Amino acid sequence: MTFQDLNLNTPLYNALEDMGFTTPTPIQEQAFNVVASGKDVVGIAQTGTGKTFAYMLPILRNLKFSTQDNPRVLVLVPTRELVVQVVEEIEKLAKYINVRVLGVYGGTNINTQKRAVAEGLDILVATPGRLYDLGVSRVLQLKSIQKLVIDEVDVMLDLGFRHQLMNIFDILPERRQNIMFSATMTEDVDQLISQFFKAPQRVTVAISGTPLENIIQERYEVKNFYTKVNLLRELLSDKDTYNKVIIFVAFKKMADRLFDQLEEEFNDECCVIHSNKTQNYRLRSIAQFQAGDNRILIATDVMARGLDIDDVSHVINFDTPHYPENYMHRIGRTGRAEKKGHALVFSTQTELEYISEIEKYMDMDIPLLPFPEGVAISEELIEEERPQIKERNNPTKRSLDDVPGPAFHEKSEKNKKQNQGGSYRREIAKKYKKPKTRGDKNFNKRNKRK
Ligand code: AMP
Repeated sequence: MTFQDLNLNTPLYNALEDMGFTTPTPIQEQAFNVVASGKDVVGIAQTGTGKTFAYMLPILRNLKFSTQDNPRVLVLVPTRELVVQVVEEIEKLAKYINVRVLGVYGGTNINTQKRAVAEGLDILVATPGRLYDLGVSRVLQLKSIQKLVIDEVDVMLDLGFRHQLMNIFDILPERRQNIMFSATMTEDVDQLISQFFKAPQRVTVAISGTPLENIIQERYEVKNFYTKVNLLRELLSDKDTYNKVIIFVAFKKMADRLFDQLEEEFNDECCVIHSNKTQNYRLRSIAQFQAGDNRILIATDVMARGLDIDDVSHVINFDTPHYPENYMHRIGRTGRAEKKGHALVFSTQTELEYISEIEKYMDMDIPLLPFPEGVAISEELIEEERPQIKERNNPTKRSLDDVPGPAFHEKSEKNKKQNQGGSYRREIAKKYKKPKTRGDKNFNKRNKRK
């Protein structure tokens, strides 16, 4: 298939030719008609698959020239880097089209951006926080938005942008096309889709990268969390075989729990990354793992996305991914560059249904290994494994991830300290007996008036 087979127009063909692109990538091929149809769309594709053009080609193809100033297309992305990158991509594609594109993000002067908005635009690319601030300031009119694209929605939700997204939905016109792209499917993403999308069409591309033949896949059936920990300890004690291991878990809390369990025995060999860790901490952990200083890396699906680490000996799925795409994505971290990789997956009884789905997706079975004799089977259950009393109609409880579990072990002394926020503010508060900060203009104004 070439781009000629898609129903594009001359300005787009010319732009693609300038870029030297002749064939659409699989996600571009699949998404074109679906996005062009105007229906809601959910695309599962990673960065690097050409997903930006997958939604921009049909959008630009159908966007009519307009002299009105309010944007008609809104693209939301999680980070400012991505704003810049997406704007650049759109500008390349729209080289021969008379279309006004603007990128806005937080951490920069909002007034400059307000002036830019006031000049008029067709496509706005934004991070959620800044978009909302501009939207409520009324400089930015969102009433003409016809298409909303949310890119990297998994990252966005993992970074805690859910409320910002909902606030934005509130100020957008109801009649609009929703287009969403995500690299991984998570419970959060799934929930957002069912809440806000109307019968979305799904387009998925097979995870590219490591061919399956390069990876030896095996699985264990394991009774519960603590038994999984025991099995993991046993495997990891073989340092020669398990010399560079990524352990995947579905969410942050589980990552921390597992780290706590492994810390004692594998203290300086083990690190953890998820979105509640600072950027510096994450970078340091990854660098240490890459260099071989740490043998074991615990990661959540979303955070492990960009990882391109050589010579990973094993990927261990501590839980069984609920979506086959995530499993493919996880195991693709091993067996790179023609080397044999090894992937293991642990499943409890309730997780076995996901194994069937993964096997169906890959069209192959994952061989079951016998549970090793020397490993202790625990009877202790974590909060999530105990019988649940289902609370119906409680909108504030969204997923198990939100359920606060009891502390199931004593925290070490250094971890007992509570983070109380900025010390400056606390000291000033003590001194003046009132909260007062340097930056609180409203507070200062109020007080002056009195
Ligand atoms: P993305 O997944 O959108 O981040 O795109 C990854 C890279 O692939 C970008 O640098 C695009 O310019 C490039 N790209 C997008 N579409 C094509 C295509 N059809 N052929 C070759 N490269 C492409």
